Amino acid sequence: MRLLIVEDETDLRVSLEKAMREEGYAVDSAPDGDEGLYKAESNDYDAIVLDVMLPGKDGWEILSRIRKLKRTPVLMLTARDGVRDRVKGLNLGADDYLVKPFNLVELMARVRALIRRAAAQPNPVLTFDNLTVDTAARVVRVDGAPVEITAREYALLEYLAFRRGKIVSRTELYEHLFAEDDDSLSNLLDVHVCNVRKKLGKEFIQTRRGHGYVVE
Ligand code: CA
Repeated sequence: MRLLIVEDETDLRVSLEKAMREEGYAVDSAPDGDEGLYKAESNDYDAIVLDVMLPGKDGWEILSRIRKLKRTPVLMLTARDGVRDRVKGLNLGADDYLVKPFNLVELMARVRALIRRAAAQPNPVLTFDNLTVDTAARVVRVDGAPVEITAREYALLEYLAFRRGKIVSRTELYEHLFAEDDDSLSNLLDVHVCNVRKKLGKEFIQTRRGHGYVVE
């Protein structure tokens, strides 16, 4: 899953990026409204964390511009006493908000919930025969036993699992699993797919020649 963080406070932006990457997300960020809008319009993110008060275009303008084009879930960061801000954000099409200062763990949980809702998967645990993907704990289990899996392998698996039965193209996977500053060697995706198959069995991720991958 790929996220965009638009936040002008450097310390906060950097710590959000770091925390999100540790959770296995591909993360892009922007320190002002203009760059934020440019990235939000040019890439397909799984969720956007958007500060309201920004240099350049503010969060409202970015939100209303995004909503003309995309359904990407947006979580807004608002000021402490900003009831009107929060209402305005929700009316403009924000999916959720958090009041600053917020707890990082809560932000993570809310982002995960937004991604689940966007995938129309309200249950955080996805079940495939004897295999489960717990998207809240980010744990994959086979016959109840956790499988050791890297953050990137998990991200690949989760992306496909949320889209069960749908063929996902390699292009879409590259767009959603790697951030703009990742060095994405063209064979990296194959390596991750190969590793997941080694750990979970060959048949779990199926290849559709010329089209992409699918989890049934
Ligand atoms: Ca700000």
